[in-house]
Amino acid sequence: MTTDFAATKRMFHLPDGVIYLDGNSLGPLPLAATARVTETVVAEWGELLIRGWNKAGWMDMPSRVGDRIAKLIGAEAGHVVMGDTLSIKVYQALASALEMSDRRVILSDTGNFPSDLYMAQGLCRTLGSDYVLKTVAPEGVVEAIDDSVAVVMLTEVDYRTGRRHDMAALSARAHAVGALIIWDLAHSAGAFPVGVAAGGADFAVGCTYKYLNSGPGGPAFIYVAPRHSQKVQPALSGWLGHESPFAFDRDYRPGAGIERMRVGTPPILQLAALEAALDVWDEVDLDDLRSASLALTDRFIAGVEAACPTLELVTPRDHARRGSQVSFRHADGYAIMQALIAEGVIGDFRAPDILRFGFTPLYVGNAEVDGAVAILSRIMASGSWNRPEFKARSKVT
Ligand SMILES: *Cc1c(COP(=O)(O)O)cnc(C)c1O
Repeated sequence: MTTDFAATKRMFHLPDGVIYLDGNSLGPLPLAATARVTETVVAEWGELLIRGWNKAGWMDMPSRVGDRIAKLIGAEAGHVVMGDTLSIKVYQALASALEMSDRRVILSDTGNFPSDLYMAQGLCRTLGSDYVLKTVAPEGVVEAIDDSVAVVMLTEVDYRTGRRHDMAALSARAHAVGALIIWDLAHSAGAFPVGVAAGGADFAVGCTYKYLNSGPGGPAFIYVAPRHSQKVQPALSGWLGHESPFAFDRDYRPGAGIERMRVGTPPILQLAALEAALDVWDEVDLDDLRSASLALTDRFIAGVEAACPTLELVTPRDHARRGSQVSFRHADGYAIMQALIAEGVIGDFRAPDILRFGFTPLYVGNAEVDGAVAILSRIMASGSWNRPEFKARSKVT
């Protein structure tokens, strides 16, 4: 199969006059999601009411959809389940992993997304003072994995720079010293082929509203390797992770395998949107996606470097070390990004000085790359970004 990216592009609603380079933060609306969510609201919630849990298969949605995510991240079927937000899933994986170890050190890197680090800090505080989160520079992670480490917690692709870690090598290093490893796939799932089983992940987590296009607030996923899934103890031991929720036992008993990582009532409307969004992926070969993504990011880097000498590339040139985004550094990055957005080129800004552009071959092609380069070049050459209205900071950047 050769993926027809013109066909996948037709499966999305893309507003007129917009070049969308922020699908790494919030994917666009898949056309099928509108009909699917409406059907779930009108025909299922409206007509079935409480019967929807059984008759419309709502109760099994977290694992049914999880199996479709499993295919995209190279996981074994039956070992991924949906629910909650990514921050919660990070906490859950970390708490379970720590409980499997006698050690007390969590190792992460300074490029990790703040919420992952915050969740680890909160968990350490709850567990007691001998638990610590240690962070090192991304390049220093390999050497820092020693036999004091209980759990290595890494995000595969750095949300700011787009630098990609070597999952298999770091997992092997962690296992060699008796540590466990958790991979956050927020900027990997749907961005390129991921192999959590082949890459040795003990746990993996990720969100679906970025490259997987489930919509704002879409549910996260969690993977537990089959070698651990009947042993892990969920710290967030909610009723839907119980072996028999409707027995209403007073004491918690974990459900079978990955089911125990469920917590409470699943978000059915968001899962309906996600199910529709995943239909797009049935038409996609992930190796084709990766080749197209690298071609787009190469083209954007070459175009911007040729026309905008004051923008400094922070994304690795080495394909093996790159995710599916390109970032440039500039002291006035915020204002430059606002000027771009005003001209219909939507990327985003990450403090203190990063302009970030996501490339998603499902609906971005060479024409969009060239259009974005042309507009950015014009803004930089004219200095039109240097206006007060582009410097006022909004809540979301
Ligand atoms: C986007 C992102 C999050 C966001 O977490 P939510 O709980 O879904 O808001 C967390 N971690 C990483 C690495 C991310 O990229």
